Amino acid sequence: MKIKYNPLPSYGDHMTLKKFIEMVETGCFIDYDGCGYYATKTKISDKLILPSHITGREQRFSMETGKFTTVNIKKTIDKNFDYVVWYYKIGDKMCKKRLTYIFNHYKKTFNLKTTLCFKSNGEFSFFRPIDNKIFIIFPYSVVEAIDIGFNITVISIGEFKNLCQTSEEGYIFILLHEIKHAIDYTHNYIRFQKEAKKYNEINLNLQPIEKRADKFAIKEIKKWRKKKTKVNFTD
Ligand SMILES: [Zn+2]
Repeated sequence: MKIKYNPLPSYGDHMTLKKFIEMVETGCFIDYDGCGYYATKTKISDKLILPSHITGREQRFSMETGKFTTVNIKKTIDKNFDYVVWYYKIGDKMCKKRLTYIFNHYKKTFNLKTTLCFKSNGEFSFFRPIDNKIFIIFPYSVVEAIDIGFNITVISIGEFKNLCQTSEEGYIFILLHEIKHAIDYTHNYIRFQKEAKKYNEINLNLQPIEKRADKFAIKEIKKWRKKKTKVNFTD
């Protein structure tokens, strides 16, 4: 498979492959902590590197026994690369800052009473009407997140991959999707209620409420990309 490259993300640790191997060998990084991608000095690739690729020992979780077992796997290090970008599972402070900044913008613009909540150790994002909360649950990385079924529709994943230039944009996309649910909930409650009732039906992705949220995210993310250089997220 051809390796794809993207600009380095503004979060995640960019380090030499040598340093990464050192960190793994000293036990600083294990698969559970996050995941890495091979990189060059200026770009990140879509080729995954996990600590277990270096140690040759992979921890596997069994749904049946509820326990982890260690499995020996083939060691694979791609020496064609000199760098790695390592993402911590819980996301990164900078990424959270950006998401909070963007969230606050919509909160103000649409007069929402919604709150934003970050969690780790999960694999999706959602809007919870009962307490008007958006949850962004950081797994390993956005790329992983899609694989394990982030709350993005199948339709939008295709578009999403072309749309988002960095994995950070993936988080923004997800946030925008949930914000649209919050807007619908706040300003179109009757319709929201009606549509939310259909949630038990199959084909969740085709529900109008989901389509609308994706459409909103697709439209809005372009604005944030344009603004990226102008907005100072650190304040
Ligand atoms: Zn949704």
